[in-house]
Amino acid sequence: MDLFDKFDPLIAERAKMGFLDPDPLNIVMDEVLSPTEAMIAGRRIILAGTNNYMGMTFDPDAISAAKDALDQFGTGTTGSRILNGTYQGHKALEAALEDFYGMKHAMVFTTGYQANLGIISTLAGRGDYVIIDADSHASIYDACSMGNADILRFRHNDAADLARRLGRLPKDAGKLVVLEGIYSMLGDRAPLVELIAAAKAAGAMVLVDEAHSMGFCGETGRGVAQELGVEDDVDFIVGTFSKSVGTVGGFCLSNHPKFEILRLACRPYMFTASLPPSVVASALSSIRTLKYADNRRGHLWGLVRKLHKGLKDLGFTLGTKQVESPIVAVCFPDQEQMFGMCQALLAEGVYVNVARPPATPLGLYLLRCSLGAGHSEAQVDTIIAAFKKAAEKLGIDLSEKPRADAAE
Ligand code: PMP
Repeated sequence: MDLFDKFDPLIAERAKMGFLDPDPLNIVMDEVLSPTEAMIAGRRIILAGTNNYMGMTFDPDAISAAKDALDQFGTGTTGSRILNGTYQGHKALEAALEDFYGMKHAMVFTTGYQANLGIISTLAGRGDYVIIDADSHASIYDACSMGNADILRFRHNDAADLARRLGRLPKDAGKLVVLEGIYSMLGDRAPLVELIAAAKAAGAMVLVDEAHSMGFCGETGRGVAQELGVEDDVDFIVGTFSKSVGTVGGFCLSNHPKFEILRLACRPYMFTASLPPSVVASALSSIRTLKYADNRRGHLWGLVRKLHKGLKDLGFTLGTKQVESPIVAVCFPDQEQMFGMCQALLAEGVYVNVARPPATPLGLYLLRCSLGAGHSEAQVDTIIAAFKKAAEKLGIDLSEKPRADAAE
């Protein structure tokens, strides 16, 4: 028995897509020209499928901070945060996060994936319960597999279902409810007021992953919890530097007086090398910038309204009825149409993400468009026009809707 036999169905499915050129699942950016443009297969392409929400990847201050750190501290730490891998930059970054979020304690991880993995699996142990939204990110599901707690799922964004499930649990058991501010595939928001009220009524602690909401939601960009005024009831905020911050890394914040002990108990924090000093320096610079980035936030929301309306007016079925986030997901009835549109869009000079089950909710085939503060109005016009031309080229009848307003 060859251990690889189990991958045969996936190999066969992948082979079926092999004729696509360029292959949407194997896009290579030969040159990145700006936060919104790259050279792909010899062509200048608008990037409308990244997580560069605040356009920070080419921020001059972040770049020069990284260069200085390279010169002063070298290319890497070669060790864990709890041994030789904590430099003054890591501490300064944690202090900057505490200031940004107005919380007492911050832990920086090497990725956001590891932050969820570490915090959830370490906090909730045997005899405890983790209650997660059914549409949770893979890092949250993987954290559940890694830990020893009992896991329950509630229906996506359904506070009544959450309350019902919490009501069946033993009163004195430890409980952690895990939520996300914005869900990354459809770009829909969590009703945090109702969800957190249900969690608190049952005596549960609450973790909110603001990976896709940091930077542009809330008055100073802390995320959906800030925007909805429920930060005081959130026990843990998890986030990433790989989206609005424009580099890589993850973090968790809390006001809990015992939070710091996790540094000595959390395996995905302890048993991996810390972030390199250049990454830490650019994250630190960007976070300081994001707090005061009102103009960028305003510009981004204007662009998203324009894209959402433009695609809706053309007749495309979108992931959300209204604008909820910089993610505008376009739904297709099947994989062929989704890949066909992706390729036709590339031919028109626009890149978007393809997303399909199991990564998507409701078995949807999506082209996930996302905008950033680095985009211009003219680029959004080009993206809308490209969708129109691509659909015409493929003969797609936009009056035949695959599924109306998927996130409802
Ligand atoms: N949480 C959510 C909700 C995410 O979407 C992601 C990444 N897509 C992560 C965590 C992991 O972030 P990172 O890229 O820093 O590992």
